[in-house]
Amino acid sequence: MPGTQHATPLAVVGGGPGGYAAAFLAADLGMPVTLIDHEPHPGGVCLYRGCIPSKALLHVAKILTEARQATHWGVTFAEPTIDVGKLRTWKEAVVEKLTGGLGDLCKRRNVMYIQGHATFQDATTLAIRSAQGEETRLTFAHAIVATGSHPIALPRLSLDSPRQLDSTTALALPDIPRTLLVIGGGYIGLELGSVYAALGTQVTVVEMTSGLLPGVDRDLVNVLARALEQSMAAIMLNTTVVAMHEEPNGISVTFESAGVQEPHHVFEKVLVAVGRRPNSHGLGLENTRVEVNQRGFITVDAQRRTAEPSIYAIGDVAGEPMLAHKASHEGRIAVEAIAEHKVAFEPHAIPAVVFTDPELAWCGLTETQAKQEGHRIEVARFPWAASGRATTLDRHDGVTKLILEPATGRVLGVGVAGSGAGELIAEGVLAVEMAALAADLALSMHPHPTLSETLMEAAEVFFGQSTHIYRPQRRRNG
Ligand code: NAD
Repeated sequence: MPGTQHATPLAVVGGGPGGYAAAFLAADLGMPVTLIDHEPHPGGVCLYRGCIPSKALLHVAKILTEARQATHWGVTFAEPTIDVGKLRTWKEAVVEKLTGGLGDLCKRRNVMYIQGHATFQDATTLAIRSAQGEETRLTFAHAIVATGSHPIALPRLSLDSPRQLDSTTALALPDIPRTLLVIGGGYIGLELGSVYAALGTQVTVVEMTSGLLPGVDRDLVNVLARALEQSMAAIMLNTTVVAMHEEPNGISVTFESAGVQEPHHVFEKVLVAVGRRPNSHGLGLENTRVEVNQRGFITVDAQRRTAEPSIYAIGDVAGEPMLAHKASHEGRIAVEAIAEHKVAFEPHAIPAVVFTDPELAWCGLTETQAKQEGHRIEVARFPWAASGRATTLDRHDGVTKLILEPATGRVLGVGVAGSGAGELIAEGVLAVEMAALAADLALSMHPHPTLSETLMEAAEVFFGQSTHIYRPQRRRNG
């Protein structure tokens, strides 16, 4: 192969939160490392067209919603004027600041960064075609595959039209459509649907299963569903899209529910958010012994080592849940394993957060999972209607719950629905990972008045002794 040749102890393919966290830790441990990604800086989907830009827009959505609600508190703002161009520029500035910052951290750590596409030639060689078309042959002692995932297209229905959006094009915020159909009531559909609804679009959500966010505990989802009933034009459950055609003024969509086709509806834009697939193709993995399962995930062991001992895989490409923080954690485990530290990926609590308003967050064992797997559990629930802080925020709509081992009160899982749930869940993660008992949460002083008290009071509910809930006493603390 013509072009330059390099050798590196560690090559990391993919610069998202998995890949860059791995490369940075490797550098911190003194390993020379080369990081390869398509973009000019590290950051991946999360920073360029996922978590970060969507959270920037969700922040604006929350401000808009709160400004409208302020009338209840005697403060009336004028109807906001939205300058989409300026909003887009601000969101892009957030992305640039963070990705640029990562590029800087790369340089400071002496991580060699190559912008290009890497393919495996064999178990110790990568061919890299740079963005400028130069070829580099990179030999490595170890490689970490951190190539992430991409949105699933709807089979047979996809249109080659700018009116059809995926998460990337929806986040580009080309304009604010009058109407939007969101196909898929999962994380992306509900987060981006909420952004557009707050910006003034009439949003309809169509979900093929019987409820939003399949797999998530229903009591948490119900809190969000009640809010979405107000903000969305319609939510259609048990419904699929069977036909889509582009018309001069929009996309004509035919729905099917319980085997019956409904008359078509026209939407200015359609956002497809029906899940993501791992990026395991086009990497030359067939030139190695790396195994890829039927769903496209690379098979890995507890150290994230693939069937090819020199190659590791982390993040979305190595299995669910497809979450940035899981990728970062795995990246650090893989690097430590390569550095021959005694480590394994064995979390008890991987937090999940849906950044809607209210937010949903959970970690560890869920009620749904406990039921499916036949675990005996006790659930202690604290409704936010009894929280002073929630009342000051005019946010009674939340609930905090603990999933507990009945005999010991050990915290096996935590679920929160409510404003700021994504921040509150961190205490739940610590409780589950530290094998805390309900008594530990109940006896740890939580600052008043905060929403964090709902975790303490949920623990008190387990003992029948929650200060703000009256319930006949049935158990002694400790
Ligand atoms: P998802 O799996 O969360 O939701 C997809 C939804 O689409 C499901 O409810 C599914 O039942 C439904 N669906 C599938 N086919 C359909 C069809 N033909 N018609 C109607 N509904 C259909 O997937 P997503 O929202 O695309 O997100 C992908 C992944 O990205 C998530 O699993 C998550 O891991 C990650 N993500 C995480 C966050 C976060 O952490 N806040 C945010 C966005 C994405």
